[in-house]
Amino acid sequence: METNVVATQVSIDDIRRAVGDLLRRARVAGPPVDLLAIARLQGIERVEFAKLGPRLLGKLREKRGELTVTLNERQPHRSRFTLAHEIAHTMLEPFGNPRTKTALAHRNGRRGSALERLCDEVAVELLFPYELFRHAVAGLPPAIGAVTRTARLFDASLEATALRYGEVAPGPVEVVSWRQQGSGLKVKASRGTPLVAASDCRAVRSLSDASSPVARAFRSRGAERGLERPYDDMPWIAHPCEAQGFLRGEARYVLSLITPATAGAAADTTPDRRDGALAPSAPIDHLTLTSPRPERSPRHGHRPR
Ligand SMILES: [Zn+2]
Repeated sequence: METNVVATQVSIDDIRRAVGDLLRRARVAGPPVDLLAIARLQGIERVEFAKLGPRLLGKLREKRGELTVTLNERQPHRSRFTLAHEIAHTMLEPFGNPRTKTALAHRNGRRGSALERLCDEVAVELLFPYELFRHAVAGLPPAIGAVTRTARLFDASLEATALRYGEVAPGPVEVVSWRQQGSGLKVKASRGTPLVAASDCRAVRSLSDASSPVARAFRSRGAERGLERPYDDMPWIAHPCEAQGFLRGEARYVLSLITPATAGAAADTTPDRRDGALAPSAPIDHLTLTSPRPERSPRHGHRPR
């Protein structure tokens, strides 16, 4: 069987082309993407659930030329992303498996965490193909309710869907996922127009900050609206924010959707910062390649995102 090698140096365009090739072969016409059909095309004979270590997401094994993906039954809400990630491994390191249909590279030159990040990039495109996702979110308001409906449509976790929304949203929006660290909340991941998670912002919220919708949402686990102020020393810069807290205990996190202050609301901002706040979204490719990705453990010891 012939393997279609799309590229040896991997760019976002190459990833989209390779995933498009697989979607056509698997006859995927709309969401949710049939990942099992794509796994079969890539020579994965078995996809099974098992009780793995609490911090493992899944693993890919090759035994006598047969590929098996094992997904952690303790992490069911992440299973589709993990399966997509393991499929990405078959595209980036085809294992010499003659049944692999589409390869992004025979040898991509990346190892360790760089390879894991690249597999995450491919997994996002498999789970939320750019054109399908763009079509699905066209005309939707930047609101957590709209993201929740989109997550159901793509059969994906809310957090992964929200971050993809930040990349593909039709208008300027920053999606930020926050986790507790000590007595504050820190940015775990962000996508879209940099408004509060840019490197020159403090991007930390005190848990006791009553003025921050993000901090209030963490405490209430409900939906909170208000203004987020990214700079302590420039309190006049404030962006409208909708935030909601999810899950409990160590898993608790806050998703926030932040939109640029409108021209009226920004009337008292300094000119240079106002320009930044009102700038349109940066190109998607740039954001996809440079936005921070969560740390991943070495290959096939995948820890929760
Ligand atoms: Zn991996």
